[in-house]
Amino acid sequence: HVETFLHFNNNTYVEQLPSKYFYSFTQPKSIPEPNLISINEELLTTLSIAMIDRQEMAEFLSGNKLFSGSRPVAMNYAGHQFGYFTSQLGDGRASLLGQLDQWAFHAKGTGPTQYARGGDGRAVLRSSIREYLASEAMFHLGIDTTRALSLVGSTLLPVYRETIETGAVVVRVAPIVAFIRIGTFEIFSTRHQFEQIRQLADFVIDNMYPKQDLTKYRYNSLLIDIAHRTGTLIGYWQAFGFTHGVLNTDNMNVLGSTVDYGPFGFVEDKLQRYVPNHSDDEGRYAFDQQPTIAAWNLGKLRLALDSLIDTNKHIDEQYEFWSSFNRTYDTLMRRKLGLTLYLHSDQWIYEEILRLLDVYHIDYTQFWRQLADGVIPDVLKREHWFSVYQQRLASEGSYAKQTRRERMNRINPKYILRNYMAQVAIEKAQKDDFSEIDRLLNLFRRPFDEQEEMNDYAKRSPSWAKKLIISCSS
Ligand code: AMP
Ligand code: MG
Ligand code: MG
Repeated sequence: HVETFLHFNNNTYVEQLPSKYFYSFTQPKSIPEPNLISINEELLTTLSIAMIDRQEMAEFLSGNKLFSGSRPVAMNYAGHQFGYFTSQLGDGRASLLGQLDQWAFHAKGTGPTQYARGGDGRAVLRSSIREYLASEAMFHLGIDTTRALSLVGSTLLPVYRETIETGAVVVRVAPIVAFIRIGTFEIFSTRHQFEQIRQLADFVIDNMYPKQDLTKYRYNSLLIDIAHRTGTLIGYWQAFGFTHGVLNTDNMNVLGSTVDYGPFGFVEDKLQRYVPNHSDDEGRYAFDQQPTIAAWNLGKLRLALDSLIDTNKHIDEQYEFWSSFNRTYDTLMRRKLGLTLYLHSDQWIYEEILRLLDVYHIDYTQFWRQLADGVIPDVLKREHWFSVYQQRLASEGSYAKQTRRERMNRINPKYILRNYMAQVAIEKAQKDDFSEIDRLLNLFRRPFDEQEEMNDYAKRSPSWAKKLIISCSS
């Protein structure tokens, strides 16, 4: 008798959409001696899933054994990669295991699928650790993202990249719409499969707005809402300094949440043209380019939805994106500065400080955190910015002053996932020491709290981190 700790009960993607177009059934390829490196107990609790024997969990979360109710599929999509359209992508190495209530379980690294295009279907331990940690760090910063439930590795699964590495599987958990990408619509529009575009749009609407009535201008509203969600998400990314690294249209979902962590990075002491992805020579996906790129991607979604859009009604997804982005970003930056009242001129205060942080190579996360204590680097005190900001703070009055520090510490994290931290965890894990992964997971559960014994993690990156190369290879 095999005890299963999870029963899929709501496989809408497989049940409501036909496989011919939207996915293909797949069988996760087994992994020798899977080892449960880390399990996200907090998420298990959220999902009301009980823990079972670790070895047994490793079997299920690697795809070696199937949860009851599981009908694994690889999802089909296309996408614009670095500006150029690729007509066939799809989950080449991932499988949608099944759905539990509103949650979809998506395992990455479970072996080649019908969409593997010659790839090995695997994910290396290195990139799996990064995705596992980043998803949870983002979630606890308050940024919409897929969650990470588990990390399973195997020392007996060689994976060939620039060198020989070992494989791993991360199970991601999110609403099903988080795995529907702009590229999912693009694959049907470029094939002129208009019935499938409609089916997919209806599916998204049914799953994203369970009780809402979007019958009026249904598809127009959908596009506008996706633009709104995306603008909001990018506002959060920019405020927290998150850089995705590969913002292709197949890596941007229609839920407006972060998906597909690869060569991401949080900005540190360089803001202009910060490009975490070593393979992105032109800096197409640089930190400061993300809003423009997201808008470009939404333009591709608009084209893909063209057959559904009623152009007799005014519709401007670009305007919706930019206004949602600006509103969100402006609100967050104002909160980071500790300001409560709205003044249009505040925009200058945060734009100027971003310029100065970049000029003087001041650490982004440290700067904001110390600002709450009134600690400002001397070089900045000599700038016009300083007096403007001081006057602006004074204009808020004494009530705001009392609670300011507390407020600022709730929006300015003390701890962020710097690439070097992930690297330390990776190098230890490659020597079978997984302790750093759980330590970081715990740390990033409370990124805004002072965690005295963890103060080393609030420091700037060591100098060796400058030599770290993060690429697309994963
Ligand atoms: P990603 O870089 O993970 O966003 O992947 C881009 C596309 O390449 C997606 O269609 C992936 O499924 C596919 N892909 C990436 N790595 C592999 C691999 N090792 N085996 C098969 N497909 C892959
Ligand atoms: Mg991807
Ligand atoms: Mg992928």
